[in-house]
Amino acid sequence: MLVARRIKGSLAEPFLVGDQKLFVSASIGIAINSPQNQPEDLIRNAHIAMMGAKSQGRGRWQFFDAEMHATVSNRVQVEMDLRRGIDQDEFRLYYQPIVDLRTGFISGFEALLRWQPADAELINPYRFIDVAEETGLIVPIGHWVVRAACQQLKVWQQEYRQLSITVNVSPKEFLHPDFVQGIEDVLAETDIPPGFLQLEITESMAMKDSTRTEQVLNRLKDLGVKLSINDFGTGHSSLSRLSRFPLDVLKIDRSFVTGMETDEDKRAVVRLIVTLAHTFKLKIIAEGAETAEQVAQLKNSGCEFVQGYFFSKPMDLEKATSLLQMHFAKHPFDLNALNMLTMTKAAN
Ligand code: C2E
Ligand code: MG
Repeated sequence: MLVARRIKGSLAEPFLVGDQKLFVSASIGIAINSPQNQPEDLIRNAHIAMMGAKSQGRGRWQFFDAEMHATVSNRVQVEMDLRRGIDQDEFRLYYQPIVDLRTGFISGFEALLRWQPADAELINPYRFIDVAEETGLIVPIGHWVVRAACQQLKVWQQEYRQLSITVNVSPKEFLHPDFVQGIEDVLAETDIPPGFLQLEITESMAMKDSTRTEQVLNRLKDLGVKLSINDFGTGHSSLSRLSRFPLDVLKIDRSFVTGMETDEDKRAVVRLIVTLAHTFKLKIIAEGAETAEQVAQLKNSGCEFVQGYFFSKPMDLEKATSLLQMHFAKHPFDLNALNMLTMTKAAN
């Protein structure tokens, strides 16, 4: 540890390159030798510890331990599998409807990524998004998502002109220098009206590097795409920054919707977010509504849009297309039942 401190101490001094002062920081991994170790084992263990140190933030150090080895090995395996997944075109999109509570009609879908390896079960994003993000593989994967989502929207829009598509964007993807150009290229290639593509970024990411976020959001806004903040209410938003971002939508996090029937505090938070959004002239989408009562309360609180298992789980392309056909041919979701529910509640 003393050595690590000394190394950090000497790196803390700026380096003069020409007349520029440059600062560097170091993530330090420390492995202790044991008699059964080969030299390459020692170096590998130090490398694994260094990756552990890096994942905790800049300028840390970390000792190697066996548990760390297991975690990192698993990550390395997922990374290798992800690379194969990209090469072999193993990614798919699932679609979850977003329902306009004023009409009961589907206004669009959120495109959600799934991974279907040839010889295994369908994999949900929480099992691989972090590794994709850490390794930078999210950049090609994310570009694929935007492209596939816009191509599908183009097909659907031939029949349902007002339908929109929402795509999640992760931090590394959003801050990549080619990101905005990539969106512009996809819009040109698929020829969808830009206002029907909505990009979602997370609240924590938007607040972390808000100056850069604002620049990128402004460039995207110039393209005409819609912008939304995901998981709103879970991070630490600065309202002054929020008001500077050219946003269109806030998405209320599922954690406030789950249990709102019985929890007055959650209902209060929802109402507060709706008021905040409307003050900034933003629309609201509430996520994760699973019961009629939640949907009724969200509607009462002034939410315009709802997404959740109550209406539908995310579906594959075939199911999403048949849902659209049935929905627009026959009837929208019946919200009268919700009105009844609200009226009964009010009467009680
Ligand atoms: P998210 O953007 O918050 O997406 C909503 C997640 O909530 C989806 O999980 C959806 O299936 C789930 N959900 C929706 N309604 C309900 C409900 O009523 N009850 C419950 N229990 N869950 C509900 P999913 O598809 O597993 O996606 C998880 C996360 O992975 C997403 O969270 C998003 O952050 C990320 N993700 C998905 N697709 C992409 C992508 O293409 N790119 C990036 N960067 N991230 C993605
Ligand atoms: Mg989302």
